Amino acid sequence: MGARREAHEALAAAGLRPRKRWGQHFLCDPAVAQRIVDAAALGPDSVVLEIGPGLGALTDELAARAARLYLVEIDRGLTARLAARYAERPHVRVLQGDVLTLPLDELVAEPSATVVANLPYNISTPVVFRLLELRRRFPRAILTLQREVAVRLASPPGRATYGVTSVLVQAFAEVRLRFAVSRRSFFPRPQIDSTVVELAWTAAPRVEIGDVRLFTSVVRAAFGQRRKMLRNALGGLMTGKGLSAAAGRALYTRAGIDPAARAEQLDLAAFGRLARVLSEAPSQVTRPDDPPQH
Ligand code: SAM
Repeated sequence: MGARREAHEALAAAGLRPRKRWGQHFLCDPAVAQRIVDAAALGPDSVVLEIGPGLGALTDELAARAARLYLVEIDRGLTARLAARYAERPHVRVLQGDVLTLPLDELVAEPSATVVANLPYNISTPVVFRLLELRRRFPRAILTLQREVAVRLASPPGRATYGVTSVLVQAFAEVRLRFAVSRRSFFPRPQIDSTVVELAWTAAPRVEIGDVRLFTSVVRAAFGQRRKMLRNALGGLMTGKGLSAAAGRALYTRAGIDPAARAEQLDLAAFGRLARVLSEAPSQVTRPDDPPQH
């Protein structure tokens, strides 16, 4: 494959080799690159942040279509190569550093930018959560992710793939699986296949969830013991609020949720109701003779 050889030669010419620790699997399929950039649906005013541009499989096309393009790359060797390549293109800004710690909201001057990234597999979930935090500034993302991660993000309730990531991300984003990308499209070839995902973030939650931190705690606790019934999995949380067994049962009734259900069966709205009734419940001091809740 010509593009595979080109990637190999480009690395060698820069005195580099693919680094496992940074999940360096370079896209070598121009047709896939084109589809990814098309999925970003850029217009003449679009501002784009590309995370991990690497050898630039997507970058030339992004530079051609975007009004402003920011590139964030952790590998100094690749960053130097990108800086040289785009030195004459003032609308392209190359930033060296870790996407998980750089102050992206300060570095990107424009109020809103689209994220495009073929993410390193080892940090893809943390990056999604970072984008969740920064969603007001980066309201759309086109991400190439390990297929299993993509499926988890988009998973509906009732499946083994439905979990903390599905609920917390879907609370603030519409998740669309766009298309599959074979492992054969990358050099070096990874052990896994990928899926391109579109995330359309919303500033406010997509259903009423009450206090975000409490909602997050409820979701994490419920899935922390996903085989247990909710009344057991959430027992600690209720006890922590000082709720008696009777008060705990009343909460489930108010939320319209069966306490014998398991986390996997609750949709986003049900988690939202549960978190809300819990936040509204007056904390009680449990008397020593109160029976335990579970
Ligand atoms: N976009 C290129 C492509 O499609 O061929 C490269 C994709 S490769 C899977 C991931 C890229 O992300 C590599 O260039 C790697 O150096 C970079 N990277 C890894 N960890 C990073 C981090 N924490 N912050 C910024 N870039 C990172």
